[in-house]
Amino acid sequence: MSHDDFDLLVIGAGSGGVRAARTAAALGKRVAIVEQRFWGGTCVNIGCVPKKLLVYAAEFAEQFQASAGFGWQLSAPQLNWQTLIEHKNQEIQRLQNIYAKLLSDSGVITIQGHACLQDAHTVAVGEQHYRAQHILIATGSQAQVPDIAGHQHGMVSDAMFYLKQLPQSIAIIGAGYIGVEFAGILNRLGVKVSLVDKYALPLNGFDQEAREIIAQQMQQHGIQIHQQQRLHQIQAQGQHLELSLNDGQMLKVEAVLFATGRRANTTGLGLEALGIQMETDGRIKTNAHMQTNIANIYAIGDVANSQQLTPVALADAMTLVDHLYGDGSLQARQRITPTAIFSHPEYACVGMTEQQARQNFADDLSIFISAFKPLKHTLSGLSERTWMKLIVQKSTDTVLGAHMVGESAAEIIQGIAIAIQAGAKKADFDSTLGIHPTAAEEFVTMRKATR
Ligand code: FAD
Repeated sequence: MSHDDFDLLVIGAGSGGVRAARTAAALGKRVAIVEQRFWGGTCVNIGCVPKKLLVYAAEFAEQFQASAGFGWQLSAPQLNWQTLIEHKNQEIQRLQNIYAKLLSDSGVITIQGHACLQDAHTVAVGEQHYRAQHILIATGSQAQVPDIAGHQHGMVSDAMFYLKQLPQSIAIIGAGYIGVEFAGILNRLGVKVSLVDKYALPLNGFDQEAREIIAQQMQQHGIQIHQQQRLHQIQAQGQHLELSLNDGQMLKVEAVLFATGRRANTTGLGLEALGIQMETDGRIKTNAHMQTNIANIYAIGDVANSQQLTPVALADAMTLVDHLYGDGSLQARQRITPTAIFSHPEYACVGMTEQQARQNFADDLSIFISAFKPLKHTLSGLSERTWMKLIVQKSTDTVLGAHMVGESAAEIIQGIAIAIQAGAKKADFDSTLGIHPTAAEEFVTMRKATR
């Protein structure tokens, strides 16, 4: 191949890489993308999509239970895990094919294999060398396993999507969003779940009150939370695993899931030889244009971001393509990031937590809270509750944050995020008509500040 085979060569065909490649190709650029494992990357194959399919499967458990109050009579429903995984696999295969087709239809050259940078313009894939004007590293992240005795007995989230059968009991180590989500899924599918976390409450970094409510409801659902605990070691005892926690407690379970964070995929890429600078946590250091310290090499998505979310990787990709081939006006990292935890109960939020708002605005805040039993559960007999919070800056009336715990929180907060992104005032919420009867209408009827 010639000196300048491509305008842009992308390493990694996950959320960010695919978006950048397709968008650049649509602008007439010569683009190639290298992928070592599966088209679509983490989100499609072992992340958001299969996770959400498992969440849907788990939700049926509650729906079956709730239906009795509405007059339905069901004989004890049974889950066939193998069928669920088989159907999930079929859907993921379909999506993988769609991703590969989207790339080739948009004129992107797809290359299968492990990419390694040789110099600032050359990437090797096996024996082949490709040259490009710009190189984009979009290699994502991978689950970390703690360095403790017996760690080989545990698994990471990737394996959860291919389990041959469900264990009867599991210890989930780490109560970040992946740990909390799997706790909710497995608990509803009938697995006895113990959640071990080093913090006092799950979901460190999120709104404190929301975390308290989630912890309380998770415990009500039968999830055992071992807070402020560290896993010391794992020992195999016949069919079981024995876990010792730092306070001397022992847990006996069938399986262990490490949900102890994800680390940027930077090894084996030749970054050290090129002198590409890294953050202390292993991410590639980039500026607002996603540019590394080597002018023509860029990095986006999980490999460069502390917010490891698909929409963040997508926004990075759009910003980068705009920077390289557009007018450079997109500034993705200045945007607020709505997010959801598909836990049980579901939690979604946008903007500041109350703690962040207090740090920034001290007492110049009004907090509006609504907590109620949703209409559906007046008949279902289930104890589910819904909780909402709006954080408003008193002096400007600006809505700084919105939080919701309860059914459909993610779907509802996505709409609220548009308002907050647009700089909505509390008066705008107040003058908006509700849709009745919904839970969401509470967001536009919270008249009296709670504090
Ligand atoms: P990835 O999607 O990870 O893609 C990177 C690709 O690069 C991979 O396909 C990899 O094989 C390839 N690659 C790596 N090194 C090389 C190399 N040297 N050569 C060639 N190819 C290489 N986000 C959400 O927004 N919502 C969710 O609900 C959500 N749920 C999640 C659930 C789980 C269990 C996990 C693990 C993640 C979840 N995420 C979620 C996060 C989301 O999946 C990631 O933020 C997103 O996939 C990041 O995209 P990316 O393009 O940076 O990397």
